[in-house]
Amino acid sequence: MPIIYRCNKCNNVVYAFIRAGQDYYGVPSPSELTVRIGGICPNCGKNIELKIDLSNILITLSK
Ligand SMILES: [Zn+2]
Repeated sequence: MPIIYRCNKCNNVVYAFIRAGQDYYGVPSPSELTVRIGGICPNCGKNIELKIDLSNILITLSK
């Protein structure tokens, strides 16, 4: 269940959380990630406003 954060300006993938345990801190919130990367998109250099791309998230209900 990957969680992908994209830049809202250039659509660059800023951070992708692919699986649990990848990152000791778990999935960062958008504000935490913004602080972590200094508030600027590494691709387009603009002030970033992260959006979560939910299209890659699949939710499966167990029976
Ligand atoms: Zn960008």
